[in-house]
Amino acid sequence: MSLNQEDAGQANVEQLDVLIIGAGISGIGMACHLNMKSPNQNYAVFEGRDSIGGTWDLFRYPGIRSDSDMYTFGYSFRPWTEGSDIAPADAILRYLQGTVTDYKLADKMRFKHRVKNANWVSADNRWLVDYTIGDSEEVKQLSCKFLLSCTGYYNYEQGYLPEFKGYDDFKGGIAHPQHWPEDLDYSGKKVLVIGSGATAVTLVPSMADTAAHVTMLQRSPTYVITRPARDPIAKFFHSVMPDSWAHKLARVKNVFLSWFLFTKSKSSPDKMRAYLREQVKKELGDAVDVDTHFNPSYDPWDQRLCMVPDSDLFKVLKDGSASIVTDHIDCFTETGVKLKSGTDIEADIIVPATGLSLRFLGGMTMSIDGEAVNIGDLMNYKGMMFGNIPNFSSVFGYTNASWTLKSDLTSDYICRLLNHMDKHQLQRATPTLEDANLEKLPMIGSINSGYIKRAEDIMPKQGPELPWRNQDNYYRDYFTIRFGKLDDGVMKFD
Ligand SMILES: Cc1cc2nc3c(=O)[nH]c(=O)nc-3n(C[C@H](O)[C@H](O)[C@H](O)COP(=O)(O)OP(=O)(O)OC[C@H]3O[C@@H](n4cnc5c(N)ncnc54)[C@H](O)[C@@H]3O)c2cc1C
Repeated sequence: MSLNQEDAGQANVEQLDVLIIGAGISGIGMACHLNMKSPNQNYAVFEGRDSIGGTWDLFRYPGIRSDSDMYTFGYSFRPWTEGSDIAPADAILRYLQGTVTDYKLADKMRFKHRVKNANWVSADNRWLVDYTIGDSEEVKQLSCKFLLSCTGYYNYEQGYLPEFKGYDDFKGGIAHPQHWPEDLDYSGKKVLVIGSGATAVTLVPSMADTAAHVTMLQRSPTYVITRPARDPIAKFFHSVMPDSWAHKLARVKNVFLSWFLFTKSKSSPDKMRAYLREQVKKELGDAVDVDTHFNPSYDPWDQRLCMVPDSDLFKVLKDGSASIVTDHIDCFTETGVKLKSGTDIEADIIVPATGLSLRFLGGMTMSIDGEAVNIGDLMNYKGMMFGNIPNFSSVFGYTNASWTLKSDLTSDYICRLLNHMDKHQLQRATPTLEDANLEKLPMIGSINSGYIKRAEDIMPKQGPELPWRNQDNYYRDYFTIRFGKLDDGVMKFD
């Protein structure tokens, strides 16, 4: 059952200035920004689960860690001091918990509060939000002036699982990375990890110590790059200056390095391909056929580059505790999988690390004066808001750099916008899209991974020009988002 504004007048429901949906790294960051820069806003954070952390609390597979460095994946305003900056999930959760404590966010959080629908009521210039608590089906409502979605970008209920012929025939255990069985004992077992993305690259070395053998089966290779899990330059910064300075310096350095790697990959793909191959070859020598297993068909950074901290994946491939196979699955069998080449791989446990299933706005629906909004038709505005949707922002981080770099910028922009609206007693800020025929391009344009392609229809779109184009570039965004005029001629204030 869903209520609408006819069922309950807005005056009778709880009134907030701002509602943040989601208590992952983005929602917590947004709340900190509100505390620091817009302290007059009366806000709450609604989180559907029973704890903070989002991604870093959901995934529990062995070795779960960040793929980017914590100087850029962490917040601009809170130094990372945990040491290893390619960080395990528990260290990230400690950092987030510390942020909640330091910024006194605990009383803003409402756990097990799941937002179902948000309806913009033009007559009131407010959002009327339907939500449920815990397992109850009773739909409650609240009203807010500004709605901020920090719901991440994928379906929490299930990951992506391709259709495998004979999937149910397999007699061993199947462990999905998104729902890792807490009591899974893989010691002395033969493990088959299907996939070649960040999850597979993390799982293989983590399980290889304990398992009898781990095979990584990939349909096609991925570019990988190695670096120390603890950045020696950042370590040096920490040893000679306060943590806050060290964090800032390491952040500046890492933003530059990741930008350089990405732009170089785009401008000189052949050189970058040769460089990445050379690095892997140096690590693996003749132990593995690099040209078969680490030679993707696409150009570097057409899909996300996978991080191999401290050469962990290479070590287990060299010592034989893990191996890599590049082939297609014909079908699952009772004892493992049969490959198209005819080879059988035997396994006690199969881990389909086959990716995420994308979902925008955490599955909630949206309407304007009761008329449903089709998320796939939304037109991105500056990578933060959407054409003709008032007082609404959705945090969507970078896919070609650390997510949080963009979520920090978005939070900063929202505070500026809220302060501007308060100062001038404005009720409504709407990025106004007048050209109904504006060309619609996929919103995530910088990479073309399978999971992004699969979800193009259900994701918002971007236009060919600013402000409708998603720049996906921290340096450019830094200036246009942080310092660009709010009243840019497209944003209409009422
Ligand atoms: C295994 C893994 C590793 C990753 N590593 C990196 C990395 O190293 N670097 C990087 O940049 N990115 C990485 N990413 C991407 C990563 O998800 C983001 O960078 C970041 O964690 C997203 O944070 P978020 O707060 O925006 O979303 P999430 O972490 O997804 O949190 C969203 C929160 O919103 C809540 N929510 C959703 N819908 C609702 C609703 N309707 N009502 C109430 N609450 C709701 C969820 O319960 C969740 O707590 C990784 C992703 C995965 C899956």
